[in-house]
Amino acid sequence: MSSERTRPIIAIDGPAGAGKSIVARRLAADLGFTFVDTGAIYRALAFVARQRGVATDDAGALGKLAQELVASRSLRFEFGGTGTKVYLDGGDISPHLRTSDVGIAASLCSAHAEVRDAFLDLQRELGDAGGVVFEGRDIGTVVFPHADVKFFLTASPQVRAERRVVELQHKGENVSFNDTLNQVQRRDQLDSMRAVAPLRRAKDAAIIDSSSLSIDETVLLMSQCVRAFDFSSDEA
Ligand code: C5P
Repeated sequence: MSSERTRPIIAIDGPAGAGKSIVARRLAADLGFTFVDTGAIYRALAFVARQRGVATDDAGALGKLAQELVASRSLRFEFGGTGTKVYLDGGDISPHLRTSDVGIAASLCSAHAEVRDAFLDLQRELGDAGGVVFEGRDIGTVVFPHADVKFFLTASPQVRAERRVVELQHKGENVSFNDTLNQVQRRDQLDSMRAVAPLRRAKDAAIIDSSSLSIDETVLLMSQCVRAFDFSSDEA
């Protein structure tokens, strides 16, 4: 572990719908750590871009918008136990961010290097002190390549689509299984094929396939891995 940090950084990466958010939140609660849902940052950008009429393929304008949002501190994030809250200039925009169209727009916006660069320091500041569980796509590969424990959480596309249908229906969005499966596969493709910070497993990440695991089983498995890790013996 780095000499400036006394508590570890846990990175959880993986494809859409693998259950990263719920598992990361529960793991953080178990360990007494802070939880950071980095997808919320890209979703917030996609939402603001749409409000301001900035196209998802306009890398320059999106990069500027991302920089402006960081510099002006217009966005505020609360990564709490019951879900992520995002405030734009004090107004709660969280209910608008977890929809499937904002998910796809976030995937398109986050493919640009200008956008990823603008959000890099913000994410690093959130994790610098350690005692954090981060979830995203590039945490173990780009944001914190020296994270103390890394997981790559995945599940079959069918299982991920089923979970997403339940989540979206719970939020009142009426979606079909086939449409959701197509969206999950489209996001997998966008996130894995992009040139900058693509979704991939860090070489030193443990793969967990949660297709046939419950949330409790997945959290237990992860917390056993984390507790088995001897942080004190780690080199800076
Ligand atoms: O995890 P979530 O579904 O909220 O992420 C929304 C989108 O944001 C992802 O499909 C991905 O394109 C992008 N993302 C990313 N890097 C992260 C987190 C999310 O590119 N660390």
